[in-house]
Amino acid sequence: SEPQEWRPIRPNMVITGTPGVGKTSFSTELARELGLRHIEVGVFARERNLLADHDPLRNAFYMHEDAVLDELEPLMTDGGIILDHHSCDWYPERWIQMVICLRASTEALYDRLEQRGYSSHKLNENMEAEIMQVVFEEAVNSYPNIPVLQLQNDNEEQKRRNINEVKRLWRSLVRRFEN
Ligand code: ADP
Ligand code: MN
Repeated sequence: SEPQEWRPIRPNMVITGTPGVGKTSFSTELARELGLRHIEVGVFARERNLLADHDPLRNAFYMHEDAVLDELEPLMTDGGIILDHHSCDWYPERWIQMVICLRASTEALYDRLEQRGYSSHKLNENMEAEIMQVVFEEAVNSYPNIPVLQLQNDNEEQKRRNINEVKRLWRSLVRRFEN
């Protein structure tokens, strides 16, 4: 007979999107309301000394991705994790059961990134990525077996509606997972 396909004990979720679309705010609230563990991947890597070279153009650090994956493995196996990062093409597909891509209008994103003090280079790069749907397409290509849910996240009202929608979908996923 076919070997049983590997899966985590409980499902896991990816929340992705261009920097500034609201991943961390969204993930924090969602994790609290669903009793999940929110992992900001960049912070997780920094806390474990898994950052690599500094990229002066992006003013950001690369991560030792293989080492980050090794550290994540036992957590992902238990499940109930929300992975929050602007890229999602480097996790094993089997870890992930739900993929959310947050989106923001150019107006909303511009204001948020400017407030964050981004250089004009970095600001333009991220605005262009959002307009070109770079992260959404990466998510679709990385998880061909899961529908990637795109949620418009321009204001607080949309955020609340999105959280409620994701909570409903998550609970139904958990029920199916248990059977
Ligand atoms: P990301 O983690 O995707 O970079 P953050 O969650 O850090 O984004 O949010 C970026 C900025 O936008 C923060 O100042 C945050 O308060 C604000 N923000 C996030 N979501 C919303 C929203 N739905 N409406 C208005 N402002 C938001
Ligand atoms: Mn963030």
